[in-house]
Amino acid sequence: MTPEDFRAAGHELIDWIADYRTRVESLPVKAQVGPGDVRRALPAAPPTSTDTIGEILRDLDEIVVPGTTMVQHPMHYGWFPSNASLSSVLGDIASSGLGGLGISWESCPSLTEVEEVMCDWMRQLVGLSDQWRGAINDTASTSTLTGLLVARERATDLSQNAAGLQSTLAPLVVYATDQAHSSVAKAALLAGFGWDNIRLVGTDPVTHAMDPGALAEAMTADRKAGRVPAAVVATTGTTGVTAMDPIAAIVEVAAAQAADGHQPPWVHLDAAMAGAAMLLPECRHLWEGVEGVDSLSWNPHKWMGTVLDCSLFYMRDIDLLQQVMSTNPSYLQSDEDGDVVQYRDWGIPLGRRFRSLKLWFHLRLDGVEAIQGRLRRDLENARWFHDTVEAAGGPWKIAAPLTLQTVCLRHEPEIDGVALTGDALDAHTLGWVRGLNESGETFLSPSILDGQWMVRVSIGVEPTERHHLERLWSLMQQAVS
Ligand code: PLP
Repeated sequence: MTPEDFRAAGHELIDWIADYRTRVESLPVKAQVGPGDVRRALPAAPPTSTDTIGEILRDLDEIVVPGTTMVQHPMHYGWFPSNASLSSVLGDIASSGLGGLGISWESCPSLTEVEEVMCDWMRQLVGLSDQWRGAINDTASTSTLTGLLVARERATDLSQNAAGLQSTLAPLVVYATDQAHSSVAKAALLAGFGWDNIRLVGTDPVTHAMDPGALAEAMTADRKAGRVPAAVVATTGTTGVTAMDPIAAIVEVAAAQAADGHQPPWVHLDAAMAGAAMLLPECRHLWEGVEGVDSLSWNPHKWMGTVLDCSLFYMRDIDLLQQVMSTNPSYLQSDEDGDVVQYRDWGIPLGRRFRSLKLWFHLRLDGVEAIQGRLRRDLENARWFHDTVEAAGGPWKIAAPLTLQTVCLRHEPEIDGVALTGDALDAHTLGWVRGLNESGETFLSPSILDGQWMVRVSIGVEPTERHHLERLWSLMQQAVS
């Protein structure tokens, strides 16, 4: 494809994206396909001739769009807001168009230095001190794995430089709660800790946040048994109920482990979803104590709306990070080594995309104030929805305290004067949610809390306004009747 061909096809593609976003509200929210439908719509063998951009755009409309659950739809309330602001989409296109190679500072100095500056802008925007330095990873899963790999190495005095975990006799333990995202256990397993050494710490029965007293007890019991508390993964905004683990108290418990001359366990903070709220000074009390953690990450690619993939990872002890992550093959060495950031030494991959461009475009084209305004709108909408459900009363029950933008609820009717419980209540919950999701009018994702299915209304898609929530409330009432 020549640049001129690209110009013509690119204009058509941009028009297609703009049209798609304009009409997204008229489309069914849930993907309209069954397993294998998309695969069957594609030729089994690779093409032997070329197609036009028009033919490809038609296939996008006919095959890809029906096979997409519309997370940009204002009636999408599933999982978490996964906004892909169009300003950041432009940055993503610029990144691909530039085609830079991020394997060293030398291979693309601007890729490195725009990323450094974007991480620093974002640090300032969420009120972190200048002790922190950041990198942009693909996902929070990678960031948590990175944090736990560094934790493992600090706990073993860099055992990777010798026999690795094989040389460590005392088992290393990781602490989190049953509300932590599944990526935390996955990272712990990949980092070699093993299921036996993942401790699920007790939580507050109402807020579902980590109980620091239970954390201290678990660490003491592990020490007594000859195990080493190596890392705690705390969460600001858990996936299910947006619980806020008490960071300051957790940091204190971890630090107390140093009292007996032990290395204190590493504290990693997973704020994947809720980190966006820290753009609002009035929300920062929710991660009070954050300056005491060892590493943290959050995803602009969720509620904030910088298109996936864009996960910020911050640490203070960059020397340690580099000791764990650095490689220095001769073909990547350059005269600038030592004077510049080499992001390949700050994480797992060698090659990196120019992800910072989408943040740069997003912040510059939309503006911080507009992003903050949208987040505040969502918080107000969530409060309104929560209060509406609560005021309705009767079978409608709020299932967990509202902390940000996710309202957790159940509809618990009585049949012949007897309240539904257990499996019957689960069947009722899953039934009315399935009905709504199949209608294409809206989308909700249920999850299990305290052994019982509940429904999460996760608010925060860019075009979602109050009238969309009024519509959802009316649909929910119809669905249970
Ligand atoms: N952590 C939390 C608290 C989350 O809510 C999620 C996603 O839902 C993740 C981690 C995983 O994020 P990613 O897809 O960026 O790995």
